[in-house]
Amino acid sequence: MIYLDNNATTVMPAEVKKEMLKWCNVGNPSADYESAVVARRLMEEFRLYIGKLCGINVCCKDVRDGETVGDSQYRIIFTSGASESNATVIHNTISNFQKPHIIYSAVEHKSIIDAVSHYVSLGLCVASAVPVTVSGHVSAESVARLMRPNTRLVCVMHANNETGAVNDIHAIGRVAHAGGAQFHTDAVQTFGKYFVRTADERGAINVDSFCVSFHKMGGPAGVGILCIRKGMLKTPLIFGSQNDWLRGGTENMPGIGASFKAMTLASADRTAKNLKQRDLKLALCKKLGARYPVIPYHTYFAMVEKPKVPTIVLISGVKNYLPGTLLLSIVGTRAKVCNAKIKKRLAEAGIIVSVGSACNTANTKASHVLYAMGADENIRAGTLRISMGDSNTMAEMTTFAAALCKCIEAI
Ligand code: PLP
Repeated sequence: MIYLDNNATTVMPAEVKKEMLKWCNVGNPSADYESAVVARRLMEEFRLYIGKLCGINVCCKDVRDGETVGDSQYRIIFTSGASESNATVIHNTISNFQKPHIIYSAVEHKSIIDAVSHYVSLGLCVASAVPVTVSGHVSAESVARLMRPNTRLVCVMHANNETGAVNDIHAIGRVAHAGGAQFHTDAVQTFGKYFVRTADERGAINVDSFCVSFHKMGGPAGVGILCIRKGMLKTPLIFGSQNDWLRGGTENMPGIGASFKAMTLASADRTAKNLKQRDLKLALCKKLGARYPVIPYHTYFAMVEKPKVPTIVLISGVKNYLPGTLLLSIVGTRAKVCNAKIKKRLAEAGIIVSVGSACNTANTKASHVLYAMGADENIRAGTLRISMGDSNTMAEMTTFAAALCKCIEAI
């Protein structure tokens, strides 16, 4: 199988599965027997490792003598995944402010958009969605335009899961802070794979909280973190004594142990891995370009006369996009394109990709990301997302390009 759907979830390496088994019978980490102490120590080491990766001191007990280490700028809370982490931040905001104004980008993950919409429908907050540019990015200026005196939270993702567009979270965080709001970023598609820093080059902390999901980097699904500035999380989503009273529930030790292993594997040699993914993306575009015209989305967007011959529109670019994410659309074919059918044919050939919005199936909701980018019906119907992982190869790109061209010829 050629797996090109790594933004959805990743394949768990054998070492990670092995590590998961190791943490299966350690008992309850809140207990005082030896294996529980070892489990608690592992969680503290994991927190410190995460903090080190993004250049922060985290609030945790010293693994040797129970003392709090560092100057404890942040708390790292283990959750059931990024959806819960996002929900926690939004719930905290509506719990601690009287009908706050919340800003989120129009291309956020549904765990943000739907949670905010739910609280709006209950009358507990008001909200504004920030539009994106034709490139799929969120600009700090457009966030600034929506700020209000009662804006308490701004949520803009670091990188979008469909387009791979990477936002300038520091510029956006500065705008949020200038208006007295907290800034939360969904770092699911970047953390561990891309440079994520909570402070800018001048040392100013612009990011108050971020979330991570470990199944996006070789770990199991159902484990994530919320990293949040100390003192900011006043109302947990799930009550209980775990995570220093910030998130109750017995910790998922097999998941946490496996995730720690996955994270160390994913973050090793990252620059080289990212360069390789970028090269694969560029090579793939070149291979497709040898057979069909390839144009960027902004060019297509500005065209009065849309292409009348099969054309590949690149919705993702290279600069300020995730290196291994390529959202493209097939337009200009004689018959109408159906991306769901192409996806199925590719799957029959052993190639797994995803579609942001399926062409015309009544029960499939179109991608809100493509709508936010002003994509017309043709773009939406022909969209495929290719998201690479660390083990994809150039030979796989050759096979995939040939298979995709065959699908296009058949339309
Ligand atoms: N945010 C983004 C950008 C995602 O891509 C995903 C996963 O699809 C999530 C949040 C949700 O993560 P989880 O599956 O850990 O809840």
